[in-house]
Amino acid sequence: MPTAAERREHDVSARALLAIEAATADALRETLDSLPRDPADAEREARDRLTTVFLSARRAARSQGRRRLDAELEQTLDEARRFGVRSSFGLTVLPRPDVSDLKAAQDAAAQAASELRRRADADGVRRAAAASGRRLNASAQVLTADAWADERDRVLRASAREQSGSDVLPLLGRLWDARLDACPVCRRLDGTIRPIGVGFPGDAVAGKIHHSCRCLSPVFFSPIYLGRSAA
Ligand SMILES: [Zn+2]
Repeated sequence: MPTAAERREHDVSARALLAIEAATADALRETLDSLPRDPADAEREARDRLTTVFLSARRAARSQGRRRLDAELEQTLDEARRFGVRSSFGLTVLPRPDVSDLKAAQDAAAQAASELRRRADADGVRRAAAASGRRLNASAQVLTADAWADERDRVLRASAREQSGSDVLPLLGRLWDARLDACPVCRRLDGTIRPIGVGFPGDAVAGKIHHSCRCLSPVFFSPIYLGRSAA
């Protein structure tokens, strides 16, 4: 299991994700508070501004997710050195998937804006905006957790592929961490460990197992896997 120092890094990672969610919630509130009074104008404006908010949430989730993965890995390699394993294993640099992030942000913004419009036609923009807050926050959380999980997963996979000969690779574990997710399926997986490159049960990916999954999969030094296969 992770050492205390590794757990501290995992805690910082979870807090980093929560901080992005909080900043995004603030930006959403600001957007909803300042929409024009005309429903059609409000829909247009909401679509544009929500696209910006959602896109920056996804970008922040990617850059923070990767930065935290780097920090976790550094701590993990420190633990490995204590076992006499020296390694230059590092994370591969990948181009940012801007096109898919923009598409995800635009789709979610268009859907939210048209829902807002439907409500605004009946109840006025102000009420519609007040009623949309919770739902928008939920959508933003989904977009954020998805980008966080996606970035970490693709970087880790690419790094493991490129440096498949690295001695330390079989000793790097991933932990299923369901602290932000109360769903029964994810709770069952909580605490499960797998070496990098080996899937979790059912090929589940933390943060992507269901629509609003916010599970994390921090890395840690796991010498127990030395020489073992996936089973
Ligand atoms: Zn989950």
